[in-house]
Amino acid sequence: MELKLYNSLTRQKEVFTPQDPKRVTMYNCGPTVYSYAHIGNARAAVVADVLFRVLRYIYGEENVVYARNITDIDDKIIAGAKEHGVEISDITEKYAKIYNDDLAALNCLMPTVQPKATDNIGGMIEIISKLIEDNYAYESDGHVFFDVSKYDDYGKLSGNTLDALKKGDRVGEGEVARKKNSADFVLWKPELDGVGWDAPFGRGRPGWHIECSAMAKETLGETIDIHCGGVDLKFPHHENEIAQSECAHGKTMAKYWVHNEFLNMGSEKMSKSLGNVKLIHDLTKDWEGEVIRLALLKAHYRSELIWTEDLLRESKAQLDGLYRDKAAGTRSEKLDFSFMLDDMNTAESLAHLTIELGEVLGLLQKDPEDWFKGDTSADEEAEIDALVSERDAEKNKAIAAKKSGDKAAMGAHFKRSDEIRDQLKDMGIVLEDGADGTTWRRA
Ligand SMILES: [Zn+2]
Repeated sequence: MELKLYNSLTRQKEVFTPQDPKRVTMYNCGPTVYSYAHIGNARAAVVADVLFRVLRYIYGEENVVYARNITDIDDKIIAGAKEHGVEISDITEKYAKIYNDDLAALNCLMPTVQPKATDNIGGMIEIISKLIEDNYAYESDGHVFFDVSKYDDYGKLSGNTLDALKKGDRVGEGEVARKKNSADFVLWKPELDGVGWDAPFGRGRPGWHIECSAMAKETLGETIDIHCGGVDLKFPHHENEIAQSECAHGKTMAKYWVHNEFLNMGSEKMSKSLGNVKLIHDLTKDWEGEVIRLALLKAHYRSELIWTEDLLRESKAQLDGLYRDKAAGTRSEKLDFSFMLDDMNTAESLAHLTIELGEVLGLLQKDPEDWFKGDTSADEEAEIDALVSERDAEKNKAIAAKKSGDKAAMGAHFKRSDEIRDQLKDMGIVLEDGADGTTWRRA
């Protein structure tokens, strides 16, 4: 099977060839864990999960290593801990768990490894020391900066070359005053509120970009097969990851770069200032995780996705239909993976979705009966089950009365049976009479 991927680095679709088909490696930038993740974050995670599933399908589950980090050191986390008088780990562990739980609700598999930044400070110090030694980085006022003028390939991923960046130069403001070139970026900063680690170049804490370079190397190696992430991370984050890793290791950091496009709310971008941020945590209260997942995959990952209630409703209706087929055992067509092999064309795949393909893509994972019962509490379920049994009993009594010729009793029992059916209908429950008795589902 030949998988084609659009490589953001070469700006063309290429046949994917791993360095070692027995150890295919992919890295995805994970969350900074100080608050809830939003649906735009979920899109990046679900796209990476689909890629992970596709690679596992092609190369075998045990032959794909997927690393997604946890950024558990950041100015906002330090500020949050100080404000609430708690340990940093109280905040980071809480939100790392919420992130994993939210993604699990969307049927995302756990990555093979989930390194934490705070566990990899040693690896970051090692890379920074090497960069200083080789003159790619310099110390300035308690900081260490990467000197972009020393790296000829700077800008190869995003197109933001030094010449282009110089046009927006604003030397003299804050951090910029400490830099040789305004595009230089920070590798190491002085400690903040007592949070820091000892390093040969002074006690401090890492910049964000260096975290991923160190964790990708530690978990996957100096050259990885695929690096993915949202297009918003392409510059400066990914550009800087490349600069650091390639100058420190003298090797290509990642062979293929896979970037997913933005998710927008109607005609506008999702942003705090517009007050239209949708959290995964809230959406999963109103919608099944699979409905959200399907909605996220309805557009090709390299197209913008317009997020609307209608998109969720359409996705729900499509899944209802597929679950009905699954329950009926209707044979779907043979698994057709051709659209997925062509740069993960989920939009076309979902338009021709079969039960088998859905299952490979992390959909249709539930038992149809559970799916149609939806989010019913245990108490509600017991009440519904009791009414369904009572109705079955009334029907049986009516049939027995009919056999014995007791027309009055027959009429009364049928009447009661109909009343119960109507009562359930008012509760939004649909009954389906089958050979094995009556089953129910949400309308
Ligand atoms: Zn990263």
